[in-house]
Amino acid sequence: MIKYKVQPKPRWAWWQCAGFAWNGVVYLDNGLLAEYIQYRQNGLVLTPTVAHEIRHLDQQHQDGLLTFTWRYFTSKKWRLKYEQEAYEAQMRAVAEESTLHKLTDFIAQDVAHSLASPLYRNMISYADALTWARQVKNRINAGEAIA
Ligand SMILES: [Zn+2]
Repeated sequence: MIKYKVQPKPRWAWWQCAGFAWNGVVYLDNGLLAEYIQYRQNGLVLTPTVAHEIRHLDQQHQDGLLTFTWRYFTSKKWRLKYEQEAYEAQMRAVAEESTLHKLTDFIAQDVAHSLASPLYRNMISYADALTWARQVKNRINAGEAIA
């Protein structure tokens, strides 16, 4: 895992997302930051959102910040690929902290709802997102590693 910092979401970040990752830094809004601080007090660091954003930092590191940014904002296909990887990391973090290390269908539905939301400029339908999220849920629940 790459080195990263966690900081409050800056004032200039007016857009609606609650957290985002940029150039080695995870930015979180007040709610997510409070959750992160709570986790740290319990000796944990990886909230599901932080796991999601760290995956984006990995992608930026792997592909280069400029290439990542260009692809993310100009290509639905790339944005979907990047977000699916990040949501899978997020789902794995949720499973990790659950008692039985398993995901419920509610989590798959919640992730599908997020993926299909206007936040990502309609990159996938809810039905397709749900099919994908359930496949990931099943892989995680079966104990399979990242594809
Ligand atoms: Zn994301």
